[in-house]
Amino acid sequence: MKKHIAIVGFGLSGRLAALQLADEFSLSIFEAGDCHASKSAGAVAAAMLAPLAESVLCEPDLAELGLLAIARWPQIIKHLHGEVFFQQQGALIVAHPQDFADLQLFANRLKPLEQQQGQWLNREQIAQLEPALSTRFQKGMFLPCEGQLDNVAFYQASYQTLLEKDIAWHLGNKVTINGNEVAGQIFDLVIDCRGLGAKTELSGLRGVRGEVARVFAPQVTLSRPVRLMHPRYPIYIVPKPNHEFVIGATEIESQDDGAVTVRSTLELLSAAYTIDSGFAEAQILSLKSGLRPSFVDNRPQITLSKQLISINGLYRHGYLLAPVLVDEVVRQARHVLLELDFMPASEHLAGLVQRVD
Ligand SMILES: Cc1cc2nc3c(=O)[nH]c(=O)nc-3n(C[C@H](O)[C@H](O)[C@H](O)COP(=O)(O)OP(=O)(O)OC[C@H]3O[C@@H](n4cnc5c(N)ncnc54)[C@H](O)[C@@H]3O)c2cc1C
Repeated sequence: MKKHIAIVGFGLSGRLAALQLADEFSLSIFEAGDCHASKSAGAVAAAMLAPLAESVLCEPDLAELGLLAIARWPQIIKHLHGEVFFQQQGALIVAHPQDFADLQLFANRLKPLEQQQGQWLNREQIAQLEPALSTRFQKGMFLPCEGQLDNVAFYQASYQTLLEKDIAWHLGNKVTINGNEVAGQIFDLVIDCRGLGAKTELSGLRGVRGEVARVFAPQVTLSRPVRLMHPRYPIYIVPKPNHEFVIGATEIESQDDGAVTVRSTLELLSAAYTIDSGFAEAQILSLKSGLRPSFVDNRPQITLSKQLISINGLYRHGYLLAPVLVDEVVRQARHVLLELDFMPASEHLAGLVQRVD
C-alpha cells in the first residue's frame, strides 16, 4: 500500500512538492484558500529569477543556489499540462542620469557568482537589447543569467496537472498540524508548506509586505525584465505573454495584508512611466498585495522533525530557490518513508536544513 503524505499549503512550495510526489505516494492536499490559492505569496509574486541582482541583498550561497534552481524550472514546466511561459534571456538594470550613483552602488555590491557577472552597457548596447529604452537611458547593466516565468500560468497548469492524479483535496479550511496529524487525520509524513500560515509555530517568522501591478500595455515592447535604480522607487518591470507586464514590487516591513495603497500604486506606476511612456495608456489588470514569509535573517529553512518536514522563509526568493529546496524536501521525504529516518542534507544546502528531534 502507498504511504500517505499530507501537504499543507498549496502555494508555491506545496505545488512543487505535490508535483514530485503525486505518482509515488498517496497525497492529501490541505489549503486554506481555494484551488487558486490566490492569497498565497506565490500567486502575487512577479516570479523573477534573479540570482545576480538579488546577490546584492542576499548571501552568495543563496545566489549560487538560485543559479542552480533556474535550470530546474524548464524541467518542471515540461511535465505540466498547459503552457507556462519561461524565459532566461537576462535582465537590464538602468538608471536616469541623476541616479547613476545608485547604479554604480548596485554594481559594486553584486557578488561574484560562478562565471556570471554584470556587463556595463552604453546607449547603443541598450538599444540592441531593448530598443525602447535607448531614448531615455544612456547607461545600464546587463545580467545575462537572469530569467522569469509566468506564475499565473504556473499556478493554473500545476493545478490542472495535479487534478489528474489521485489526490484527496481539502480546500477552504485553515487546518492545524500536530506532528504527523493534520485536522485530526494521521499521516505517514506531513509536509508543512504553509508559508506565513505557520507564523505562530515557527519562531521568528514574519511577513514582508509587497505590492505589484499587472497591466496590459500593447504599446510597450520590452522583452525582458528591467530594473530601475532609484533612491526612493526602485522597481522592476517583468514582461509576461500577451503584452502583460508585472510592475513591482514594494518591500515594506509590515504584516498588513490589506489592499494595495494609493501611495504604492502611484510609486509603482509613475516609476514605470519614467521607463517607458507607453505605460500611460496601459490598462490596469490587477493591483495585488502579499506577504513574503521571511525569517529574521531572510534565509529559507527546511526543518526535519520525526514525520514532519517544514519548508519556509522563502522571503523574496521563492521562485528563485524553491525548485532546489523542494528537491531536498522530496529527497528527505522519500528517505524517511523508506527507512524512517532523515539523512544528512545535500552539501549545497548546508546551513539551510536543520533537524529538530
Ligand atoms: C509582491 C511579491 C513579489 C514577489 N516576487 C518574487 C520574485 O520576483 N521572485 C521570487 O523568487 N520570489 C518572489 N516573491 C516571493 C515568493 O512569492 C515567496 O517566497 C513564495 O511564494 C513562498 O512560498 P510558500 O509556498 O512558502 O508560501 P505561499 O506561496 O504563501 O503559500 C502558502 C500557502 O499555504 C496556505 N496556508 C497557510 N496556512 C494554512 C493552513 N493553516 N491550512 C491550510 N493552508 C494554509 C496559504 O493559503 C497559501 O496558499 C514575491 C512575493 C511577493 C509577495
